[in-house]
Amino acid sequence: MEVEPTCPMCGLHPEDTMHALVSCVYARAVRSHTTLPSFSPPYAEFPLWFEGVLTNFSSDNIMLAAAVLYHKWRARNRAVWEAALPSPRAVATAATATLQAWRLVHASSPQGHPHSTGTLRLVHGHYIAAFNSHPRACLSFLH
Ligand SMILES: [Zn+2]
Repeated sequence: MEVEPTCPMCGLHPEDTMHALVSCVYARAVRSHTTLPSFSPPYAEFPLWFEGVLTNFSSDNIMLAAAVLYHKWRARNRAVWEAALPSPRAVATAATATLQAWRLVHASSPQGHPHSTGTLRLVHGHYIAAFNSHPRACLSFLH
C-alpha cells in the first residue's frame, strides 16, 4: 500500500516525525489539553527536540510527554489506517489516563521499587526505551 507523504491529521504539510508529533496543528491541540508546557525551540529534527524535553522537563512532565507522544502516534495511525481522527481532547485524556494507570501499578507493588524511572535514549540514531524497574504487575522469570 502506498502511503501518502502528506500529514494525515491536517492534510496541509509533508509528514515527518517532528511535524506529526510536535508541530502539526493537531499535535499542538492535543498538547494544549494537557498540563505539559509549550516547548517549541527552533529545532527542525525530532531527536533534538526530544533531547530538549529530556533536558528541560521535570521527570513528571517527561513521563507525561512520553504518554502524550505515544497517544499522538496512535491517533496518527488511526488517521492513516482507519480514516478516523479522535478529538485532541480525547487523545490528551487517554494519555493522562495511561500515565495514571502506569503510576498506580508502579506505586502499589508490595515489593517496592521506589526508584523506577523510564526514559528514551537516542543511540546511533535509534530510540531505545529503558526502565530501571521490574514490571510489578506480572510474574516474570527475570525477577
Ligand atoms: Zn499536520
